[in-house]
Amino acid sequence: MTGHGEIRLDSKGAIEKALRLEGPAFDSLLLWAPRAGAAFTVIDSDDTLFRARLLELKEGSADIVIFEEVGKIDSSLEVILLQALPEKERMELIIQKTTELGVTAIIPFKSEKSISIGERDARQRKSHKWDEVALKAAKQSRRPDIPQILPFRSFKDTLTHGRGLKILLSERPDAVGLKEFLRGKKDRTVTILVGPEGGFTEKEVEEATEAGFTPVSLGKRILRTETAAIVAVGIVGYEMGE
Ligand code: SAM
Repeated sequence: MTGHGEIRLDSKGAIEKALRLEGPAFDSLLLWAPRAGAAFTVIDSDDTLFRARLLELKEGSADIVIFEEVGKIDSSLEVILLQALPEKERMELIIQKTTELGVTAIIPFKSEKSISIGERDARQRKSHKWDEVALKAAKQSRRPDIPQILPFRSFKDTLTHGRGLKILLSERPDAVGLKEFLRGKKDRTVTILVGPEGGFTEKEVEEATEAGFTPVSLGKRILRTETAAIVAVGIVGYEMGE
């Protein structure tokens, strides 16, 4: 479940180098809704990131020119965010900020105390914009990839998508602190499960624990669901990124 849209070159990049993108690299470019003159990030055969400008988009190929070297890919960390669907436009905020912070996939889900996608759409009519929010934030932060926003699903189904180090964000006093929990861990995939405004039920915490999630705390303060998600993705990236 890594991000998608990585534009991989089959040669070394260099400033002012002009290139033609075809095949998989061209297919990836199309995911960025490209327009002539737009800039985006490409990865060369040495895993170095470059900024490139689109000169011309044709049927099946595109001409680009590299104009800036950005440096090596900074992290092989995969961060999967499992997010109980919040009220109002908080999902957009979570997608935007966690994309900037390096999340690779987001799965919104229905928990006992969260609203359903139907209720949310009846009030907002906005869930179809989630991919657009992720795309804009990926462009803005100059990421080489776009995080995947997977379809809304049930809590049970969501638990099966946890991989690597599995964390359940818990505001309860018996949860271990995130800093302490991450100490010495070397996993390259981390899954973060975040509850809704009303929190998880006992039964949900039990089910998540059985599925391998450890309840972990961000401190004594009760954070809003969007704050908890954004902070946790930031801390995990900071602590586990390279
Ligand atoms: N059960 C709560 C209540 O209604 O009093 C609050 C739920 S909190 C607003 C929403 C979610 O954010 C929680 O389910 C949890 O996943 C996360 N969260 C909030 N504060 C947290 C903290 N201090 N540490 C870890 N997670 C937190």
